[in-house]
Amino acid sequence: MERRRTVYMDHAATTPVRPEVVEAMLPYFSERFGNPSSLYALAREAEEAVEEARGRVAAAIGANPEEVFFTSGGTEADNWAIKGTAAANQRKGDHIVTSAIEHHAVLHPCRALEKQGYRVTYLPVDEFGRVEPGSVEEAITDKTVLVSVMTANNEIGTVQPVRAIAKVAHDHKIPFHTDAVQAIGAFPADVDDMGADLLAISAHKFGGPKGTGALYIRRGTRIGTFMDGGAQERGRRAGTENVPGIVGLGRAIELVTADIPGKAARIAAMRDRLIRGILEAIPDTRLNGHPTERLPNNVNVAFRYVEGESILLLLDALGVAASTGSACTSASLEPSHVLTSCGLPPEHAHGSLRLTLGPGNTDADVDYVLEILPGVIGRLRAMSPLRGAT
Ligand SMILES: *Cc1c(COP(=O)(O)O)cnc(C)c1O
Repeated sequence: MERRRTVYMDHAATTPVRPEVVEAMLPYFSERFGNPSSLYALAREAEEAVEEARGRVAAAIGANPEEVFFTSGGTEADNWAIKGTAAANQRKGDHIVTSAIEHHAVLHPCRALEKQGYRVTYLPVDEFGRVEPGSVEEAITDKTVLVSVMTANNEIGTVQPVRAIAKVAHDHKIPFHTDAVQAIGAFPADVDDMGADLLAISAHKFGGPKGTGALYIRRGTRIGTFMDGGAQERGRRAGTENVPGIVGLGRAIELVTADIPGKAARIAAMRDRLIRGILEAIPDTRLNGHPTERLPNNVNVAFRYVEGESILLLLDALGVAASTGSACTSASLEPSHVLTSCGLPPEHAHGSLRLTLGPGNTDADVDYVLEILPGVIGRLRAMSPLRGAT
């Protein structure tokens, strides 16, 4: 079939860098190339730009600038939060509480700690992907040094009751980390309101550049250094600052956090039209994630009798970029840990489709997807060996 246009609906994977962000970054590659640590005007210019960006990130999450530390992205921020907290609390304990549906940037550092002898509790979630705050209470022991639960899930969009979870942690004097990578720009994020002592963000998920992020560290939180070297970031994160990236992060977070309710409402209206349209037009389909407590831009549906990667291939041929949580990777036919943890029925588990919207999407994009998707699923089902068997 002819490729009619490109409809990008994979904003949970990454987003285009906004033109205003590119514009803000450009001078810091060329005429303002100074190293912020050096002692001359060119360096001061770079240093001031980094501090201005720090102020913008702090303002966006209700933090003090000195509590914001730039990193190479969300993955580094999560690694630092988890491994750094574990290292700084070795005398206190060796137990971490997290959820079964965290991003690999949280799960894999936890696995790495387990190999070193730490114990990790991976809290179960309900069918909608929510962590029950009571389960956090039950999991905590006198050796627990960190509770880490993501603000919103990247696959199914479920928003966690982080405030209630943080309260449980704080009642036991345990710090609370949240991976807020998907939440920035989706709803107002305030570290005090959320009860976050550590919070990870990533620029490329909201119109900023890849390879730049930040870790919020509440004043007084015990955490080790993650990158050892020079005295950058007040001695806590070594390495010459990614000045253009940091400037881009600052500009992007400023843009994305302006008028969140207005923008979220527009995107949620497209989300709801997609969900309704898909469920109405295509039988044997279910919505993954929470019906209401979900990111305004997230659609995740499972189609019975089809395989997620086949859906993506046909959609790609029709100019639609989307994602699946049912990767039929090389040897295994296992669907994602997120879908499995939600107890997705096996007959649905392999055919999931994630569409994540962004500010560039239009009603025409939604119309187009609703127009082609029934045919795509119909064609795949007609060829499906699973279909006759059930
Ligand atoms: C993308 C993502 C990350 C990783 O961020 P990077 O900047 O790509 O390293 C971590 N957590 C969540 C929830 C994400 O969506």
